[in-house]
Amino acid sequence: MADAAPISKPIHIMGAGLSGLAAAIVLAKAGKEVHVHDVRADSGARFDGDFQALENWSMDDDFVDQLTAWGLDATAFKATTFDTVDLIHPDDTITQARTEGVAYRIVERGTSDHTIDQGFKRMALEAGAQLHYKSRVKEEDCTIIACGPKGTSAVAYGEIFRTDHPNHIAFQLNDRLAPGSYSYLIIIDGVGLICTCLWRKQRKSERFLNETIAWYEAHYPNLNRQPFKRVGGKGDFTINRNYKQDGRYYVGESGGLQDFMWGFGMRMAVWSGVLAARDILGEGDYEVEVRKQLMPYVRTSVANRWLMNRVGDRTFKRMCKAWMKDQKKRGDGLIWIGKLFRPTLFKRLLYRVVSPFMLENDPKAHGRGVRRMPFRAALKRDVWEPSEAAQAVGQQWDAIRRGGGHVSFTNDKESDGAGQENTAISS
Ligand SMILES: Cc1cc2nc3c(=O)[nH]c(=O)nc-3n(C[C@H](O)[C@H](O)[C@H](O)COP(=O)(O)OP(=O)(O)OC[C@H]3O[C@@H](n4cnc5c(N)ncnc54)[C@H](O)[C@@H]3O)c2cc1C
Repeated sequence: MADAAPISKPIHIMGAGLSGLAAAIVLAKAGKEVHVHDVRADSGARFDGDFQALENWSMDDDFVDQLTAWGLDATAFKATTFDTVDLIHPDDTITQARTEGVAYRIVERGTSDHTIDQGFKRMALEAGAQLHYKSRVKEEDCTIIACGPKGTSAVAYGEIFRTDHPNHIAFQLNDRLAPGSYSYLIIIDGVGLICTCLWRKQRKSERFLNETIAWYEAHYPNLNRQPFKRVGGKGDFTINRNYKQDGRYYVGESGGLQDFMWGFGMRMAVWSGVLAARDILGEGDYEVEVRKQLMPYVRTSVANRWLMNRVGDRTFKRMCKAWMKDQKKRGDGLIWIGKLFRPTLFKRLLYRVVSPFMLENDPKAHGRGVRRMPFRAALKRDVWEPSEAAQAVGQQWDAIRRGGGHVSFTNDKESDGAGQENTAISS
């Protein structure tokens, strides 16, 4: 009698976000028994209707082609493409960055059917993975750790509104409205988002969002904004000595695999989930592949972040001018920005020099040698009084909140599990 085929052990994944679900899809398709556990009630619940951008300039490969190559269905969720982006300089000049290809694909995060989270969830279920929501499991009992941020290195806050403005996207470099960072406006099919990112920790952080909204109102007079919720959350940026330890794979934000400069993380989340699954299937070594495929970009982004931490609006203005000049010369707005994200010898050396000073050890990281980029302290220039227009935006939101307007991120602490930091906006 022939030997019975070996029965493989079930694989438990902690976190049903993009990285955990990507891993689950690949594993379940290969016939593995996969259980994905999430503390929240559904995939995407962390984000509540937030728009996020899949940038398409940092690598030679188009993300959609990568998804297809990994056996993932890029049509399982709604993605709206943009070839033109308003680039807002710190002195309020507005120019356009353009490409003949795709600059951004905007996806929605959340629990609605068309979100990327639900698209991945459907793919996982179709592949045969078993999803367990409101399920709290121990890290030691899981093979893949995919539970998103633990600490806080930066935050982003946004307001979602109804609008009759046509689809539009704008990206603003402005150190006052978005300390160390950027703000953005995204409008898709009657729904808008104005968001500001804070790479320095602030008191009264709500004033940054109110002031940003007031700025967009003044410069985009046809928004007809009817706000109904505020969203946001934290980003965790870490470099890990080991991405695989004691038989466990740390993927996505749990492995710190994100762009340190501007916070793009979805692509690396999915990518790392796929790499972990492939290792389990005997198709490559996760530790080696993460270092080969992802870390050059992550290290470049650490060097970029170090540079960004040292500059303000004057350099942001120079960046905008250089970007536009390069676009004029080459006829494509993606080339300049793409170069900024690509690994170079200079960025590699800069990373080596600056990372010991930039990152702090996380003593709670199961001996994995996790070094986190701390949430930087506010600077003197971050202290300012809100304008009248921003105060009016704040009062408008207060009235909406009293009438039932939802704020998603105040619950970050409660729903993320132990060891999380609160990112609640403070007024
Ligand atoms: C406001 C904001 C805007 C952003 N904008 C962009 C953008 O425009 N473009 C971009 O590319 N990236 C963006 N990012 C980053 C991007 O969201 C993350 O990089 C990406 O979601 C990480 O995927 P993940 O799978 O690691 O985590 P997630 O997709 O967050 O999934 C983690 C899952 O784990 C669950 N979980 C948490 N704790 C536990 C636990 N203890 N046990 C079980 N489950 C748990 C959570 O509920 C969640 O479902 C943004 C982030 C924020 C906060």
